[in-house]
Amino acid sequence: FQTVRLILGDQLNAQHSWFNRVDDQVLYVIAELHQENTYVTHHVQKICAFFAAMAQFAKELRAQGHQVLYLTLDDTFNNTQGYSDLLGLIQHQVTLVGAIKFEYQRPDEYRLLEQLSQLKLNTAVVNCVDTEHFILPFDEIDAQFPVGKHIMMEHFYRRMRKRFNILMQEGKPLGGQWNFDASNRQKLKTQDIKVLPEPLMFSFDVTEILARLERHQIPTMGRIDAPLLWPINRAQSLTLLTYFCQVCLPSFGRFQDAMTAQHPAKWSLYHSRLSFSLNSKLISPLEVINAAIDSYQTNAEIDIAQIEGFVRQILGWREYVRGIYWANMPQYASTNALNAHGTLPDYFWHGDTKMNCMRQALSQSLDFAYAHHIQRLMVIGNFCLLTEIEPNQVDEWYLGVYVDAIEWVEMPNTRGMALFADGGIVGTKPYAASGSYINKMSDYCSGCHYKIKERSGALACPFNSFYWRFMDKHRARLSQNPRIGMLYQTWDKMDESARHAILATAEHNLVHLNRL
Ligand code: FAD
Ligand code: SF4
Repeated sequence: FQTVRLILGDQLNAQHSWFNRVDDQVLYVIAELHQENTYVTHHVQKICAFFAAMAQFAKELRAQGHQVLYLTLDDTFNNTQGYSDLLGLIQHQVTLVGAIKFEYQRPDEYRLLEQLSQLKLNTAVVNCVDTEHFILPFDEIDAQFPVGKHIMMEHFYRRMRKRFNILMQEGKPLGGQWNFDASNRQKLKTQDIKVLPEPLMFSFDVTEILARLERHQIPTMGRIDAPLLWPINRAQSLTLLTYFCQVCLPSFGRFQDAMTAQHPAKWSLYHSRLSFSLNSKLISPLEVINAAIDSYQTNAEIDIAQIEGFVRQILGWREYVRGIYWANMPQYASTNALNAHGTLPDYFWHGDTKMNCMRQALSQSLDFAYAHHIQRLMVIGNFCLLTEIEPNQVDEWYLGVYVDAIEWVEMPNTRGMALFADGGIVGTKPYAASGSYINKMSDYCSGCHYKIKERSGALACPFNSFYWRFMDKHRARLSQNPRIGMLYQTWDKMDESARHAILATAEHNLVHLNRL
């Protein structure tokens, strides 16, 4: 072989120009690596999904006539060739096949980009190419995202809409406004819950993968009790996309922030669950956006608020967090603006807590390797923010638990949006909320051990006292913000004894976090 090309686990992009032509002189290498499975403890479904998708991708490339070497953990772990990591593997393969060129697609994780940029081969030239996946070209990130500066997602999103002419009409936003958030954000009523759609699940036998993980003692978190439900190839990803457009999109925006404990489909609701397919690059963001817009144009049940809400997530948020990540790494990974040093309680690994909202969100994360955005942000993330858990621990948990977790997207969401650890690069204020937000958007509180209306005492909703403690503690920083300032008037108007009881409850709960 003249050329060896590396395909990482999140680079399963069949539409990449690499594959336009079959060339017998090119060897594609896809490898299950110990280093990728141990930098954090991953959810068992996440590892299974990646390994299964990588193996399927190899099979599909071979079927098209490409030369592919697929290495399992059995081949790469404690191998007789003596390499221990990705660079060792590359050196070994390039020498073994006598290649004069080694090529890779630019990794989306800083850690891997750093590692690969240190690669030196004596006998082959090294070439890095684009992944051809994202909408905003990589070399434009620096201009759009100045280091350390707050960039408003809304402004970035509008620029992207205009630039790529998405949901635009004669230079104006379709529907006359950029943002339909006000029509979204509805709670699910009893009659809405009854008609929730069945989530479309796949079924892939992962017995062999599980045996490999056990053989090589790869630590995992979470559960897998049945065949893998996640899409593991392009065809399944496209089926899920079609299902989403037909069944979920008509109600997507409306119930985007809603949560319920009442229905078997409570873990998925109207969400697309396309994030694994997107982040492994089985499908591209533009084809998802185009498919959704096509449905909007042909299905009268989909109104502008639903399609705009969906496009915003992918053209806006997804591209935005990638920009924030690359502009601010590696400093971003050590930010801790609020000086948080708490420890994650044990229920993050088993879900058993008396707080119903946390039990629901954590249990489904452990059962499905999935929680939707508001559960990640306003339940689990909010809890970590208010209880001042150290950002590294929170990051590590989020990076491990979700099937779609890859650092470029996980970190700005966790450190930036949920924890405000970046000091305001993603948001101008922390997404801190008391229990009343959770009560407004869900039915969790009615089934909870704690009382949502109480702020102090043993049975008071812990989110309430934590919230006021947080606001009180960070008053100097937060009261300057016009969007928060008003809240301090409410706090100041409370009885001194009520304030004292709230703060005492919060301190007590913080000390006994594991028992909540
Ligand atoms: P849908 O609700 O159907 O949304 C459609 C798509 O929009 C998603 O698939 C995703 O690609 C994109 N999207 C929506 N919101 C965001 C966002 N804030 N950032 C980036 N893309 C977005 N997303 C990940 O892909 N990987 C992560 O590791 C991850 N970690 C998160 C951690 C925290 C603390 C928070 C608050 C959010 C995180 N998100 C992450 C963003 C978002 O929660 C998930 O993308 C979404 O829940 C995935 O489910 P879905 O495909 O059903 O999304
Ligand atoms: Fe969560 Fe508080 Fe509601 Fe219980 S009462 S579900 S702890 S918000």
